[in-house]
Amino acid sequence: MEKVKVLIIGSGPAGYTAAIYASRASLSPVLYEGMEPGGQLTTTTIVENYPGFADGVDANQLMGVMKAQAQRFGADVRRGFVKAIDLSSRPFHATIDDGAEIEAETVIIATGATARYLGLPSERKFKGLGVSACATCDGFFYRRKDVAVVGGGDTACEEATYLANLCNKVYMIVRRDVFRASKAMQDKVFSTPNIEVLWNCNTQEVLGDEAGVTGARLLRKDGEVFDIKIDGFFLAIGHHPNSELFKEWVATDENGYIITDGKTSKTSVEGVFAAGDVQDPHYRQAVTAAASGCRAALDAERFLLNQ
Ligand code: NDP
Repeated sequence: MEKVKVLIIGSGPAGYTAAIYASRASLSPVLYEGMEPGGQLTTTTIVENYPGFADGVDANQLMGVMKAQAQRFGADVRRGFVKAIDLSSRPFHATIDDGAEIEAETVIIATGATARYLGLPSERKFKGLGVSACATCDGFFYRRKDVAVVGGGDTACEEATYLANLCNKVYMIVRRDVFRASKAMQDKVFSTPNIEVLWNCNTQEVLGDEAGVTGARLLRKDGEVFDIKIDGFFLAIGHHPNSELFKEWVATDENGYIITDGKTSKTSVEGVFAAGDVQDPHYRQAVTAAASGCRAALDAERFLLNQ
């Protein structure tokens, strides 16, 4: 059986950064890229808020250079995903989709989160062409335009108020007649003049042409179907942390996010660390994920030194 000091699971900014640090510490990390090499960021186009790129950077290119940087220091980046894991005792035991078995002294979980979508074919069609699940990432492209945010939770309210600063008008498409969001977030929405809340509405279809989104067709609970004219359609109906594989072993919160100890990446299992969106329901940025990947590698290195 193959034995490794550090097994990194996931290939977003958190996983690759952990691999850069762990390989530079001569820990010869093995990283499995998972089902979506490059992670969530690859579902967007240009990244303009990652420090170091004055003119922005193509998301796939950014992930490509992070991977190359990790490989340059000897990280073993592999295609494939971990299909089963046993974290009950050290060394930990992982089974890869191709049947390979790995014994790992430490594990860094960097499997990210997945934004929830409505599941409409038209929504899929315009993903990256006006449909986005990240206002902080893509809002800037809709300056002075009209956009819609779907959802009534804290994220939707936060994203709507963020977009209202950039955009001409922001519709909020809310399926009930109340917000789920906290009172403070609701107050922000209600006091922002260019946000219009469309209560009791569900999206039937995202409308568009070859250039991208042009509108959305909504169905109100009273049966009325009507269209709104928009250039951007933002989903904010929650995220789903990719923690299923680990839940049996490490502590998670009520939403499935892996719980880490204070400012560290330590999980409830000694020698298992978590980084990036799988443990972060709040910030969800490439740069914060990268920073937590760094922490996880340093925590793993210290852990191994103390063994
Ligand atoms: P939530 O689960 O809190 O809210 C999801 C929202 O999306 C709800 O309004 C829900 O409607 C709606 N929704 C879900 N599915 C659909 C669907 N298929 N069609 C239409 N609408 C749908 O997720 P959030 O991402 O907003 O928040 C996650 C957690 O993070 C929460 O605990 C939140 O408090 C926290 N958070 C805190 C922030 C802060 O403190 N600054 C900022 C952002 C998030 P319904 O209500 O009808 O179920």
